[in-house]
Amino acid sequence: MSVIYDRVALIGLGLIAGSMSLAMRRRGLAGEVTGYARSAETRDTARRIGLVDRVCDSAAEAVEGADLVVLCVPVGAMEAVAVDIAPHLKTGATLSDVGSTKRAVIDAVGPHVPQGVHFIPAHPLAGTEHSGPESGFAKLFDNRWCLLVPEGGVDDAAMANLRLLWEGMGAHVDQMEPDHHDLVLAVTSHAPHLIAYTMVGVADDLRRVTDSEVIKYSAAGFRDFTRIAASDPTMWRDVFLSNKDATLEILGRFTEELFALQRAIRTGDGDHLFDYFSRTRAIRRGIIEAGQDTDAPDFGRGKQGE
Ligand code: NAP
Repeated sequence: MSVIYDRVALIGLGLIAGSMSLAMRRRGLAGEVTGYARSAETRDTARRIGLVDRVCDSAAEAVEGADLVVLCVPVGAMEAVAVDIAPHLKTGATLSDVGSTKRAVIDAVGPHVPQGVHFIPAHPLAGTEHSGPESGFAKLFDNRWCLLVPEGGVDDAAMANLRLLWEGMGAHVDQMEPDHHDLVLAVTSHAPHLIAYTMVGVADDLRRVTDSEVIKYSAAGFRDFTRIAASDPTMWRDVFLSNKDATLEILGRFTEELFALQRAIRTGDGDHLFDYFSRTRAIRRGIIEAGQDTDAPDFGRGKQGE
């Protein structure tokens, strides 16, 4: 593939930015990739491993002359970064982000975007529980979705280029309206993370089951929760604080369903449990058919370990 942007600036140098840089490099999608992160430690690590072409010591320097700037910091840090870089953005440049919630990012960043800069918020639906500059890998976005979430009219050519970039990095691209995005993600990602955090917290509280038993006899269900519950605390704090309404709406429904299942167990209503679990099994089949997960037993863990 050929170069889509002569210069791309990544602000934040963690899992997502690192994976973007490596994915762009894999296909030669950017002439040069510059990067900036808040701490000298992260910048030094990024330099040592050659994560981007040029690590800068300020966000302003990183975005100077960039055709595309992508904010890859936690949602709660987006506004401060936007204020910092706004005067240095090139006219005609595209400003994007990868934040997990979109209404909050649009409200925080939107007012600071200078005239002549195209603001196209985005969210790649790909990640792991790891964070930091050494956690990125080029294949992270392969066969995953990236949602472009602009508000109102946006320049067609800028949209087309950003779409091409994400496709070049391996993703399928769709467009979505910001509030709808936040509701969909509350169901598919945010509420499940909160439930995993809770489940692991409950196991930790259960003093009748000792810590060592929880770890030693960790069966697949609980083990999968612990993987999710190991996700970055800063990122997830910001996700819940910035997607409050949708997450609370979904958690309300979750609580109702949980009570219904609780009643079915207490009253011995096996039909209710069986029908419910059949419905959820069909959803899992749909995810596999859509190519969004493997149907290998144990998520293919055995294979990975070979
Ligand atoms: P990460 O690995 O923790 O990296 C975050 C980066 O942001 C770090 O380099 C950090 O620098 C930098 N940073 C934090 N505050 C900053 C500030 N005020 N100014 C400049 N840099 C700052 O996080 P990530 O997983 O890549 O997540 C980045 C964004 O992607 C988040 O908005 C998240 O919601 C979104 N996202 C994450 C996932 C996922 O699964 N992880 C998936 C999709 C989208 P230091 O290291 O110096 O602190």
